[in-house]
Amino acid sequence: MISRDDALAFVLAGVDRLDTVSVAVTSALGSVLAHDVVAAHLVPPFANSAMDGVALRSVDSAPGARLRLVGTIAAGTVASRSIGPGESMRIMTGAPMPDGADAVVMVERCTFGGTPGEEVVEVADAVPAGHHVRPAGDDIAPGDAVLSAGTTLTPGAIALLRTVGRDRVDVIRRPLVGVFSTGDELVEPPAELGPGQIYDSNRSALVGLLAESGFDPLDLGLIADDEERIEGAVRDGVARCDALVTSGGVSMGDFDFVKTVLDRIGDMRWMQIAIKPAKPLAFGTVPSRGRAVPVFGLPGNPVSSMVSFELFARPALRKMAGHEVLERPTVAAIAEHDFGRRSDGKTHFVRVVVSVDDAGCYRVVSAGGQGSHHVASMAAANGLVVLDDGEGARAGETVRVLPIGPVI
Ligand code: AMP
Ligand code: MG
Repeated sequence: MISRDDALAFVLAGVDRLDTVSVAVTSALGSVLAHDVVAAHLVPPFANSAMDGVALRSVDSAPGARLRLVGTIAAGTVASRSIGPGESMRIMTGAPMPDGADAVVMVERCTFGGTPGEEVVEVADAVPAGHHVRPAGDDIAPGDAVLSAGTTLTPGAIALLRTVGRDRVDVIRRPLVGVFSTGDELVEPPAELGPGQIYDSNRSALVGLLAESGFDPLDLGLIADDEERIEGAVRDGVARCDALVTSGGVSMGDFDFVKTVLDRIGDMRWMQIAIKPAKPLAFGTVPSRGRAVPVFGLPGNPVSSMVSFELFARPALRKMAGHEVLERPTVAAIAEHDFGRRSDGKTHFVRVVVSVDDAGCYRVVSAGGQGSHHVASMAAANGLVVLDDGEGARAGETVRVLPIGPVI
């Protein structure tokens, strides 16, 4: 057996960052920026009001001061004249400040009166210059590097790109990842199960994990345990995709043809990793169109395939997608009960439900049965407690948890 760290290092050494592509900002969510983004304009582009209210000269403001109202400025319009002594204009949030005005009194502090054409406003306060005014360039100045290469584009980052007027952006291409499952026992819902058959769950799980991680999955179907068909599926997958993830057929069984095929047409390493679940992993490359396409041969047991994806495929695919941080950090949590285990030379990953207590601390309880075929606990789990080789942890002790889903 090799350590998890060695297995991950091997897998990471076998993948490279993909090329840079120009994409619409609106479809760049989750992608990694290839270049720094530099602002070309002031943001905001003009001084504007932060409030609905009245624009005036701050020197004219005083408790009970009465000013003539000489216009209204809506957002998206510009005042037709400037403001002189004793004058004011109604102004809406985001509307440009009229020339001559240097402050805004918010509408809640104004009393409007006078007659049509002779309107006046009485303001309740003396306000300093700049009051409720957002100066031009207050947020961003031309030449500012607003986002740096390597940034993952969150909704906030997308908003920033739009704010500085970008419609396209250079990002590292998101890997297109083919997925197929193998197994003569597998059928697809809603077909009735025949004798000895089960439903294929891994393929859907892996497609979901890929999408959730920000990659582009390509479902290549359910392939029978037949050497020729598996070879066809592998060749098709590596020709069309940046990486391939397969489920099943990599153990020592008589019908584990994924192993046979990948050994023949690829450059594969078969690993036994000191972890539970997900001990077996095949990783290597298969040549296609002048490229060496990474292939992850994940074990067939449903929980093993998902844990193996999390620990090895996800970090490697993140590297291909240009991410700098590849693994999720673990967090500290309090064990609600004993997490007993025996020493077996392996690190155990225990499916747990992570919650936050009243003090804001993470707490963990087992998500249920821990067999590698127990899908129900995988569905319930939002974390994996990492138990190093040894006797496990006692109730009340602090354990490390790998979050695999949202806590709320
Ligand atoms: P294998 O790695 O092909 O020997 O499969 C190991 C175990 O996982 C067997 O019990 C299979 O029936 C099960 N299994 C393999 N592939 C899948 C799948 N796609 N969905 C659900 N169970 C599977
Ligand atoms: Mg099989």
